[in-house]
Amino acid sequence: MGIFFGERASAPTRRGFCLCCLMTAGVTASGEWLTPREAFAQAQNVVDGMRGAAVSAPIAIRRLRGGVGMLEGAGGNIAVLGGSDGKLLVDAGLTGSRMKIEEALGAFGREPIRHLINTHWHFDHADGNQWIGEAGATIIAHENTGKYLSMTQRVEDWDFDFPPAPRLALPSRVVRGDDVLRLNGATVMLRAHRPAHTDGDISVTFAEANILHTGDTFWNNAYPFIDYSTGGSIDGTIRATEENLDGSADDTVVIPGHGPVGTRRDLRDYRDVLVDIRGKIATLKRQGRSLEEVIAARPTAAHDARWGGFIIPPSLFARLVFMGV
Ligand SMILES: [Zn+2]
Repeated sequence: MGIFFGERASAPTRRGFCLCCLMTAGVTASGEWLTPREAFAQAQNVVDGMRGAAVSAPIAIRRLRGGVGMLEGAGGNIAVLGGSDGKLLVDAGLTGSRMKIEEALGAFGREPIRHLINTHWHFDHADGNQWIGEAGATIIAHENTGKYLSMTQRVEDWDFDFPPAPRLALPSRVVRGDDVLRLNGATVMLRAHRPAHTDGDISVTFAEANILHTGDTFWNNAYPFIDYSTGGSIDGTIRATEENLDGSADDTVVIPGHGPVGTRRDLRDYRDVLVDIRGKIATLKRQGRSLEEVIAARPTAAHDARWGGFIIPPSLFARLVFMGV
């Protein structure tokens, strides 16, 4: 899940916006006043708000290497591999971004989308399954992702009940462990994590290009959401990050679920931050401190400058960790 679109609010070339800022401050992160439509979105549930805002959200094309690129701004980050076997996408973004996604995909050739991998079931990564599935692509996902998409699913932290997705939006190829695809001359390795951000997370490595898409097990420059409603946990998120560190090298390009393209060093920083905060909060909880007392102790303070400025504020992240230790 992510409410943040585009780059860090502090970046001078910032694109997009941060819905949490829309919701709390009444102005966009770039300092503009809300349009009437944005103001309406402010009054809606966060899921509805994100879906509505996607229609006008700009999408940035990042060309990486080896025929792989990334689209940023359609919800979660989307990886694209072009070629004569048809395009492969990792994650599908929000439905409202469809037109802009299709336009941006033109930068990767004229072939249709033939394969889509979902890193997990969340709406900002899988809403686009419907139009991509209806166009005939094979959708590949973890079996638990298929399960959650096929049934009514509630996420408590978003106060939202997701209805079952239509048949063509469901995965037609289900992954239970690690898997490999060979497409467009590339080796595409799927790693099924044990429960992490959810219990259906997949990371995807483009082996020759040396590019890793972590899904939402890693958010670059932002504390992550952890979805306890569908099997996520702080310890699983740390474990998945360790697995991705093991499976990458210093020169690996790392595409996070949200935030700018990063490096293995960013991934390591993130792991260190999660481990530090987890340790502090576990100690406080063991001492009998309540959630309110733990939040008041500001266990994330040392890391907030880099990681606490966006979607998941420090107090919410402290609660997400508290729930799992
Ligand atoms: Zn997510």
